[in-house]
Amino acid sequence: MSQTIQAVRGMNDVLPDEAGWWLEFEAKVEAWLERYGYRNIRLPLVEHTQLFRRAIGEATDIVEKEMYSWRDELNDEELTLRPEGTASCVRAAIEHSLLHDGPKRLWYAGPMYRHERPQKGRYRQFHQYGVEALGYAGPDIDAELIVMCAALWRELGLQDVRLELNTIGSPAERARYRADLVRHLEQHLERLDADAKRRLHTNPLRTLDSKNPMVQEVVASAPALADYLGEASLAHFEGLKRLLEAAGIRYAINPRLVRGLDYYNLTVFEWISDRLGAQGTVCGGGRYDGLFAQLGGKPAPATGFAMGNERLIALMRDAGSAPPAKPPRAYVVFQGEGTIEYALSLAEELRRLGYRVVQHAGGGSFKSQMRKADASGAVYALIVGEDELRAGEVSVKPLREPGEQRRIARGRVAEALGD
Ligand code: ATP
Ligand code: MG
Repeated sequence: MSQTIQAVRGMNDVLPDEAGWWLEFEAKVEAWLERYGYRNIRLPLVEHTQLFRRAIGEATDIVEKEMYSWRDELNDEELTLRPEGTASCVRAAIEHSLLHDGPKRLWYAGPMYRHERPQKGRYRQFHQYGVEALGYAGPDIDAELIVMCAALWRELGLQDVRLELNTIGSPAERARYRADLVRHLEQHLERLDADAKRRLHTNPLRTLDSKNPMVQEVVASAPALADYLGEASLAHFEGLKRLLEAAGIRYAINPRLVRGLDYYNLTVFEWISDRLGAQGTVCGGGRYDGLFAQLGGKPAPATGFAMGNERLIALMRDAGSAPPAKPPRAYVVFQGEGTIEYALSLAEELRRLGYRVVQHAGGGSFKSQMRKADASGAVYALIVGEDELRAGEVSVKPLREPGEQRRIARGRVAEALGD
């Protein structure tokens, strides 16, 4: 016998019991997006590798080591499975001139691919909802996005998701800061780890959020980015903080929060839960005013965030809301000559009226069919035997509550099922 084939490491099946949670999560998220006036955009899973190199930046974890890239020999193209959605979203906005008649509020969803070490909350195929506000410059829209997130956590029944907030200024401010930071780090070379050394001249800001205690000590005495910000950057940040306070949103300023991707400027934020262990960030985002121009488009301000479905669904389950159960209203069993056609049309008729109806399949004795009806969780069994068939009736048996089996006219079954 040949060996069975298993799923690729880090790429998970979502089995039906688990998928119930996903459906519930997705329904809530999509209703919430609609309430805030965001419109759906659907983007390909595969893009030119160059898109991510340019948008995310060469010296980032994603581009350095996490992308699934390959060469398509037939078309002589370098392609990549998308590791995130913002780059594609902006690419599409430029390609289709989506902002020609004004700014746009957009969302997308789906799988993302990163070649990471799989562990709890970290997978190689994972899923995100991404929310992007394209063409808006002010702190008001940054605030809108953050207020929205807080509302979603409430909607999902999550407590203890906290907000960390920072501003990373403009590219020019960051460049000046970067030079001083590099000088400082170079003075403490012996206490930097390999990562920090490697990033020294490529992406030194990432060293600010190093998890290594020795590196953290070096960082603690480093100059602070906040001291390099000009008036406009400070005003944007003050504006945002004021709006968050007015909306009753609590936040903690984390001066070391820089986010992994190159395209951010000004506002950056993360939502973090302490209930998920090391993989506690459920949502991250920020402003990326330079990305349109970086991808060859007409410059346009933009801001957005992405959240990780696996981590949020884990929290939702943890919060102990009742598991989503949608048992059928009725299970149709039948026995005898000519009853299958009768049962089939009965089931179809009820479904057309909107009832969830499972029709027995696979034969078997009446008793075994009734066992299946019970196991399905259905509220009623609808029984069709030769007697019912001849009389144009159906027997209705309550399965979840005490009550007698009753024979009724076929036309009155829907009434008996109630709502
Ligand atoms: P992390 O610091 O956990 O690696 P990140 O900064 O790389 O996260 P983003 O690119 O900001 O993550 O993606 C937004 C969200 O997507 C994260 O906050 C997280 O919830 C989720 N996410 C990112 N990578 C993974 C992954 N490999 N598996 C599961 N979820 C992920
Ligand atoms: Mg990551």
